[in-house]
Amino acid sequence: MRNYYVSKRTEPDGSHDVHHNQCIFMPHSANEVIYLGKYEDCNGALAASREHFEATQGCFFCSYECSPKNPEHVYSQKETFRTIDGK
Ligand SMILES: [Zn+2]
Repeated sequence: MRNYYVSKRTEPDGSHDVHHNQCIFMPHSANEVIYLGKYEDCNGALAASREHFEATQGCFFCSYECSPKNPEHVYSQKETFRTIDGK
């Protein structure tokens, strides 16, 4: 189980990144993140993050399996992300 957080920072694509507490890319200030809770993997955390922000995604580095940049991840909200490796 890991502690997961969602960043309050809006990414250029309009979404918010979900990180676990050991990620070096998580914002350092507690004011910049919302604590989501303990989860086995990023899937539960991602679901919880949607209660705070409409568009969220797993961090590419710490939650790769939930990142839209992972071509195997079926991302329901933003189909366009899947085209990165989809050609
Ligand atoms: Zn991360």
